[in-house]
Order: sequence, then C-alpha cells, then structure tokens
Amino acid sequence: MSHKHAVVIGSGFAGLSAATHLAVNNYQVTIVEKNDSPGGRARKFEHQGFVFDMGPSWYWMPDVFEKYFADFGKSPSDYYDLIRLDPSYAVIYGEQDVLDIPANLDSFKEMLEKIEPGAAVQLDKFLEQAAYKYQVGIHDLVTKPSRSIFEFTSPSLLKDMLRMDIFQSMSKHVRKFFKSDKIIRLMEFPVLFLGETAENIPALYSLMNYADIALGTWYPKKGMHEIIKGMVSLAEEKGVKIRYSSEVEEIEIEGGIAKRIRLKSGEKISADVVVAGADYHHVDKHLINPKYSNYSEDYWNKRVMAPSSLLFYLGINKRLENLRHHNLFFDEPLGPHADAIYTHPRWPEKPLFYASVPSITDRTVAPEGMENMFLLIPLAPDLDDSEEIREKYYNIIMDRLERISGQEIRSHVIFKRSYAHRDFKNDYHAFKGNAYGLANTLTQTAILKPSLKNKKVSNLYYTGQLTVPGPGVPPSLISGKVVANEVIKENN
Ligand SMILES: Cc1cc2nc3c(=O)[nH]c(=O)nc-3n(C[C@H](O)[C@H](O)[C@H](O)COP(=O)(O)OP(=O)(O)OC[C@H]3O[C@@H](n4cnc5c(N)ncnc54)[C@H](O)[C@@H]3O)c2cc1C
Repeated sequence: MSHKHAVVIGSGFAGLSAATHLAVNNYQVTIVEKNDSPGGRARKFEHQGFVFDMGPSWYWMPDVFEKYFADFGKSPSDYYDLIRLDPSYAVIYGEQDVLDIPANLDSFKEMLEKIEPGAAVQLDKFLEQAAYKYQVGIHDLVTKPSRSIFEFTSPSLLKDMLRMDIFQSMSKHVRKFFKSDKIIRLMEFPVLFLGETAENIPALYSLMNYADIALGTWYPKKGMHEIIKGMVSLAEEKGVKIRYSSEVEEIEIEGGIAKRIRLKSGEKISADVVVAGADYHHVDKHLINPKYSNYSEDYWNKRVMAPSSLLFYLGINKRLENLRHHNLFFDEPLGPHADAIYTHPRWPEKPLFYASVPSITDRTVAPEGMENMFLLIPLAPDLDDSEEIREKYYNIIMDRLERISGQEIRSHVIFKRSYAHRDFKNDYHAFKGNAYGLANTLTQTAILKPSLKNKKVSNLYYTGQLTVPGPGVPPSLISGKVVANEVIKENN
C-alpha cells in the first residue's frame, strides 16, 4: 500500500478530480488552493439573496459527470438534482426573430424543416456522424494522456480517426449538410465553447452538436456550483485535505525531483508527487526554476488562447419577460467579432453576447419577485479592461437587451458586479487573462497540446483546461483522471 503524499495545486474541476482519483488509489492527498473557496473558475458568490455562478453555466455531456461519480460508486443525484431545460436555449437573430431550441429531437427537426425544407433528413445524417464521433471522441480519444503518437496508432483507432474528419474544418463540414444561414449559425455555435471559430476547429467537434441536440442542456438545481460542492464532499469523504487561502509561490525542485511546495505564508509542504491544476503557464513560468520549464515564453505567446470575457453579474428587482434561461444574442454578424478576438485583437465594435437568467428555472438563486442575470461578451485575451470600457460595453449590450426583449432592465438593476481580464489574472493567475484556456485548434490537439508531464522533473504533472484534453467542465474532469492514472502508473 502506497503512503505517498501528493500535493495538488488548485481546487478547480481538474484539481478536485485528480485529487479524488489519487486518494482512492492510496495516495495521501493535500489540495492547496489560493482562493478562500473551491471551484476555481466555477466559484460562486452571494449577495443579499442572489446566488451567482461565476463561470460555467451550461451543463452538457451528462454522461461524463455520471462516469465521474460512478468511478467512486456514486451518482450525480447523490449530490445535486438535475433539470433538463426545455427549450434548451434561445437564439436571438434580431428583433422578433428568436428561435427557441426545443429539447425534443422531433420538435427540433420540425423547427429546422420550417427554416430549410429537407433539413430534417440532413440532420439525421449529420447526427449519425456526430454520434459516432462522440462515442470515439469522448469515450476513447480524450482519455489518452497524449504523451506519444503511438497512443494513436492502433489499427482500429486509425480506422476510427479516418472517419472523424480531423482535417476538415467544422465550417466546411456544416455547409455540406445545410444551406440556411440561420441553421449554419446554430450548428456552428457549440464549437465556440472550444475557443475558436468554426473555420479553425476540426469537424471532429461536430460531436459537440451531438452533445447539444441529442444529450441536451441540463441545469443542477441551486446552480452549477453544486457540482463543485458535490466533488468537494466526495473528495473529503475519500480523505483529501483541502487548504484554502494557501497560494503556492514555488515548487522546490532538487536534482530533477519536486521535493516540496512553498506557500506565500512561507510554510513548506513536502511532496512525493506534485500535480499542478493551476493555469499551466503560471506553473511553468512562475512556480518553478526556469531551467525546468517545459516551454519558452515564445512558445506560449504563439499559442491560440481561447477567449477571455467581460462578465456582468446582475441582481434585478423585478421578473423579466421574453427571455429564457440561456439566451444567445446573434443579432450582429459573427465575422467582425471573431476578427476582434482572433485576428486583430481589439474591443469589438458590435459584440455578440450571451445572457443567462438561471432564476427563470430556479427560484432559489434570486430573492422573491427578482431575477438573477449573468451577461458575457467573449473577448480577445490581454485587452485593457478599464472601468470606463467595461461600462461602455455594459451600455452597448444593455441597449440591445432592452430593445430586443422589449422591457426596461437597466433601471431595475439593484446589484451589479463586472469581471474581466484583470480579475482572471488576479484570481487565477490566468495567462493573458484567459477565461477558457487554450483553443482546440488542429495544431493544439492531443499530442500537440502542452504536455501533462514535466519533461525534466520526474514527479511533476499538469492538469486542467490548458493541457489534455482541453477547455470546458467535462474535459477538465477527464483531465484530472487522465493525470491521476499517469501518476499511479509511474510512481507506484
Ligand atoms: C466565464 C466562464 C464561463 C464558462 N462557461 C462554461 C460552460 O458553460 N460550460 C463548460 O463546460 N465550461 C465553461 N467554462 C470553462 C470551464 O469553467 C473551465 O474549463 C474549467 O472550470 C477549468 O477548470 P480547471 O480546473 O482547469 O481550472 P480552474 O477552475 O481555473 O482551477 C485552477 C485553480 O488553481 C488555483 N490556483 C491558481 N494559481 C494558484 C497558486 N499559485 N496556488 C494555489 N492555487 C492556485 C486557482 O485559484 C483555481 O482555483 C467557462 C469558463 C468561464 C471562465
């Protein structure tokens, strides 16, 4: 029986997942977390009866969460109650031009057919491929540590990969099936979660459409943070110790072996293994002696980061009309906004944005008769986000929100907090203030992602949204398991 001590840096999804998997494999595990509460980007805060999820709001791929808890003999329902949203979300193309996306597949097909005759049959063909990609992608490819090309060379996997459309863009793929601009935008939306536009995301990721259309959009009652709460309680049940307000300042390495971590307080904690779930760049460039870094600053500057975001958490003292739980404002063209994120980084002239109103589904997250709203504008990383500019964009999107939803909102805002690049850097040491890690472009996939193992330090590993398999809650959960398996394989 191993009594090795693993120190896990960070209590985000990846850190909690890695820690719990190690704990049930006889590791003594301590998580050290910089902030005073768990969850990283999925923290929550409360203000006078409003309960705000700070980051993720879309619960997709419920099977990944089931698998996570099942690994420990549990189920999500032991920790939180899930509700399937119907409509899944609304897409706002303009005033009086709103699509409610039905949860039911037949109703979804009927909706498409009305927009483009023949689209229902095309959807069947599109989804058949997407289902196959989901099975191979989520149940096989993402579970690979991606440390060697040989992980991908078994004849059966090579055959699978040929069917996965890795070398075709999502944008071209969608256009093979659909002609209507509206449907194309709808089908291209899910890959925005992967941090790039459909032109630069491999068509492998139509698996996201399968997740969206076939598996559905869910919501844990009382908010997304309930998942974190459940994971913390499970981790502690398995013996993981979590220390909050414990920022790591250095991983002390001697002769190519990580010996201990030093906290900001000066305290040192010795370790047999260190798993870093904090932002990869921060660990690689700021927590270890530069001679042990996996990658140069130049390497990092050449990475395509997924966007940062400007967020507003709003408490509203009345009930809102004409909005859904999830509302995607596609009332301006994506092209110029994408250009402002990826090609010529700048504040966009006419931003697309997303509005979430969880209190429409769940009355526990806002006081009686009030509404809890979260607004998000995706932005290029590393922009200057002064208070003035945040306010300017608040007014731009609030004008559109009020006009399109046909109601006064601004004058009913009784609580408002903004959050952007500076906050991502301060709170999470986020490289360039990124929100979602690295984009899943072809040249940043699998073995081409930052490696989950330090190449010069035998017992230092990385996990989380900047390494394999990529950004998002389900991949971060998987990342923690993948890294734990590597630790167990190499250190027992
Ligand atoms: C606004 C927003 C919306 C999102 N929406 C969705 C969504 O709807 N659905 C979805 O699936 N995904 C979504 N995501 C992405 C998802 O939240 C992330 O991919 C995921 O939470 C990343 O988890 P992680 O464990 O890799 O990193 P993190 O959550 O960032 O965890 C890293 C932890 O390390 C800690 N840390 C950093 N430095 C140190 C240090 N020196 N010492 C100690 N601790 C340290 C941090 O405090 C943090 O707790 C969203 C993200 C954001 C920001």
